[in-house]
Amino acid sequence: MAIELALSEVAAGVFELRLPIPFEDGLVNVFLFRAGSEVDLLDCGMSSEDSLEAIQRALEQLGARRLRRLVVTHIHPDHYGAAGVLAGPGRADLYMHRLEVPLVHPRYVELEHLIEEVKRYLLVNGVPDEEAEVLSNSQRALSQLVTPADPSVQLDGAELIEMGDHVLKVEWTPGHSPGHICLFDGGVRARTSTRSAWPSRKASRTSRPSRSKAASPSRSRPSLCAGGCLSSHEFRGPALAGSP
Ligand SMILES: [Zn+2]
Repeated sequence: MAIELALSEVAAGVFELRLPIPFEDGLVNVFLFRAGSEVDLLDCGMSSEDSLEAIQRALEQLGARRLRRLVVTHIHPDHYGAAGVLAGPGRADLYMHRLEVPLVHPRYVELEHLIEEVKRYLLVNGVPDEEAEVLSNSQRALSQLVTPADPSVQLDGAELIEMGDHVLKVEWTPGHSPGHICLFDGGVRARTSTRSAWPSRKASRTSRPSRSKAASPSRSRPSLCAGGCLSSHEFRGPALAGSP
């Protein structure tokens, strides 16, 4: 039986999609930004059949002919897991902070080394052998739900990125993960203000030569949310000021 599609518009042209994950409260929120027949995606859920099918159905429902850009807030499995399916040559461009990039291989590709290291750390700190074995192996199960991908664009923070009809500023917010980012909507609307609103830094493209369309000032843009927050966990769209 097909799962119900949990897709709702939370701001003008911005859609929250709830995707299944096997931990926490069982769901993660990702956000689709529509611009004509193209869609940009913020976070992508895990690389599971149900989750990927939901993304595909959401894209169809929004009339998207192409997924243009995938921005991930950090490389934890519920935010980055499907990156290798959705992004890559001929598919979406993947954007992530440069401090997340070196974490990908040890965490999802050269996994055995990490598992050994975690187990050694747990044993040294007094965790009983049996529990250390279970805990260190938990990473192996999660890695099954991650299809890694290298980024097209590595971010530093302070760049402007065009997401759908919105121009959002990358804010580097380390803590939860070294290269964790948030996207900030400064309500950029006017043709003249998009390039001068913030000290924009160009995103550095690592594997593709074509230029990002970041901060193209060609149209007037609606404000994403006034004083609100789109969250990956816990909060739903109604927390936004002025949203339904
Ligand atoms: Zn996380």
